[in-house]
Amino acid sequence: MDNRRRALEDRVAQSIHGLYSGNMFRDFYEQQRQPRRYDGQQVCLNGHLVTNYANTNPEDRKKFCPDCGQPTIMACESCNAPLQGAEIDPAVVVIGFGFSPPAFCHECGVSHTWTRRKIDTAIELAAEVETDPRELEKLRNSIGDLTTETPRTPLAVARFKKLVVKAGNTMGPAISKLLTDIASEAIQKQLGLK
Ligand SMILES: [Zn+2]
Ligand SMILES: [Zn+2]
Repeated sequence: MDNRRRALEDRVAQSIHGLYSGNMFRDFYEQQRQPRRYDGQQVCLNGHLVTNYANTNPEDRKKFCPDCGQPTIMACESCNAPLQGAEIDPAVVVIGFGFSPPAFCHECGVSHTWTRRKIDTAIELAAEVETDPRELEKLRNSIGDLTTETPRTPLAVARFKKLVVKAGNTMGPAISKLLTDIASEAIQKQLGLK
């Protein structure tokens, strides 16, 4: 009886030891040290997300956007850095669900085509409301500060809030919609859009 009990205790001790010193933990810590890896992202030039799994599921790729018919890209048009889709953990397959298309390239900082198009459209709309060329120029200079937080963001927020009020019920909602597309979430809150 004693021998059997001792054998059992040995086995328990061995498995606990195995658990702590074994590959499972070593692998876990090594993974934590590895740089993050991402699946490919495919986006149309108007900024519609096609897939965050363009590498794992190449069958999901589309040459043209099913929503608007624009050509799609998987890399920055300026520096060719791949767009980053879902985050990948080699052990767990996929741990993130990927992101909405970014406003700017993470590698070269250039604004993507969809960001520039939305900004241009917002300025065109602003021109329908703001007829003073000096005021319009101020809006043009400020709109970039809505895409991401800068020291000049509060000024941009104030200017565009004023524009939306001035635009009233006819143009206001269209301008607000565009600003929602352009502004980061934190800035949407400052604009009162969230
Ligand atoms: Zn599209
Ligand atoms: Zn780039």
